[in-house]
Amino acid sequence: MSTERPLLEVNGLKKHFPIRGGLLGQETARVYAVDGVTFDVRRGETLSIVGESGCGKSTVGRAILRLFDITEGEVYLSGERIDNMPATRLRPIRQRVQVVFQDPFSSLNPRMRVRDILAEPIRNFGLAKNRRDLNEKVEALMDKVRLPRDAVGRFPHEFSGGQRQRIGIARALAPGADLIICDEAVSALDVSVKAQIINLLADLQDELGLALLFISHDLATVEHLTHRVAVMYLGKIVEVADRRTLFAEPHHPYTRALLSAVPVPDPTAKRQRIILKGDVPSPINPPSGCRFHTRCPFVFDRCRVEEPILRHVGSAPGHSSACHLDEVPGGPVVPD
Ligand code: SF4
Repeated sequence: MSTERPLLEVNGLKKHFPIRGGLLGQETARVYAVDGVTFDVRRGETLSIVGESGCGKSTVGRAILRLFDITEGEVYLSGERIDNMPATRLRPIRQRVQVVFQDPFSSLNPRMRVRDILAEPIRNFGLAKNRRDLNEKVEALMDKVRLPRDAVGRFPHEFSGGQRQRIGIARALAPGADLIICDEAVSALDVSVKAQIINLLADLQDELGLALLFISHDLATVEHLTHRVAVMYLGKIVEVADRRTLFAEPHHPYTRALLSAVPVPDPTAKRQRIILKGDVPSPINPPSGCRFHTRCPFVFDRCRVEEPILRHVGSAPGHSSACHLDEVPGGPVVPD
């Protein structure tokens, strides 16, 4: 096992957004968007953060990108603390950590040709020696994302959704990033296009040693891409495991419910669907005890008053789950 420090370390991250009201704009409530999240991502690794809308997964990505200050916790990149770094020192971090959003159309300037979209970060970070070098770098990016070089003169609206996402990926690669946060990056795409973009990301990861933090509401999307999965519910990670373990031996009832909605490739095999009641509760007033207790099919008294902690479960290294049922001797006891 590698002793090298992870590329990204997130320790006890909290992000609470104040809600202000009244004449003086005083704080009247808080949105507990992320409430104590710890994980790491190694070089060349993909970690997926999965959960329903409103679970806080995108807030985690934005906190790492330093789009706002965090409430509590620490974020390290290659061992250097970045969550409290002054804005004047963030430039090299912005070069190394890039993002690909769900909707490339709204994140690409419609009035810029692809050549200029890709040249901008190369210029901004002073990565080209001269104009010719700049053009060669732009063409190399087009090759990397498998778009024709002669398309650099076109505008974003002249591309399909999948091609636009390739441009978004090329732009993320342009400054030489070593961590790319993919925030629902393939969610808006058709199934076949989605598969192509996932394959492209996997190939780029192999070629460039990229680390990917893949944020998705859908476990099926990450199944063929990820090395590890962290499942989030209402601001907390409730289970984390390597891909094989999570899909074969899920412990947490929420993970099991999410997995039950993932289609099984073998048509003769059946997976019992677990339908969760209601929606994710408001992060303004999260439930006491286990935050999942209002929807959990296996809730019992203790769940309503005592918060379960993330603890090692099963036999696979790095497999943790936060559920009181995991403490019962004899291993996983969640009924099938
Ligand atoms: Fe369900 Fe209780 Fe486990 Fe929470 S702690 S997931 S409510 S059984």
